[in-house]
Amino acid sequence: MHELTLCEALLDMLDEEKRRRGFSRLRRLKLEIGRFGCVDPDALVYAFGVTTRGGWLDGAQVDVDRPPGRVTCLDCKVETQVDDRFAPCPQCGGERLLPVGGDELKLVEIEIEA
Ligand SMILES: [Zn+2]
Repeated sequence: MHELTLCEALLDMLDEEKRRRGFSRLRRLKLEIGRFGCVDPDALVYAFGVTTRGGWLDGAQVDVDRPPGRVTCLDCKVETQVDDRFAPCPQCGGERLLPVGGDELKLVEIEIEA
C-alpha cells in the first residue's frame, strides 16, 4: 500500500505543476526513486496507471530512474555511493554505514503537451 500513498503524493505534485504552468496534458514524466527506498517501481507505475485512468494524466508514460544511495561510514568517515543499503563500507569493510539520502522520490522531468 506504500506505493499508493506515494502515487497520491506524486499526483498532487503533478496537479500543482499543471496549475502553475498551465498545460493540459502530460506526455511523459521521469521519476527518481532512490535505491534505499522500499518502493517497488513497478508497483508505483502500475498504481499510477490505475489511478489516472480517465483523468488528465491518462496515458502518460512513466520512466523510473534508480540512482544509487549515498552513505557515510562511521568508522573511516568516507562518503560513498552504494547500490545496496546493507553492503559493507567499500573502503574499510566496516558495517556501520549511515545513509545520507537515497530513499526519496523525486519528479525530475516532465514532458508536456500544450
Ligand atoms: Zn569505512
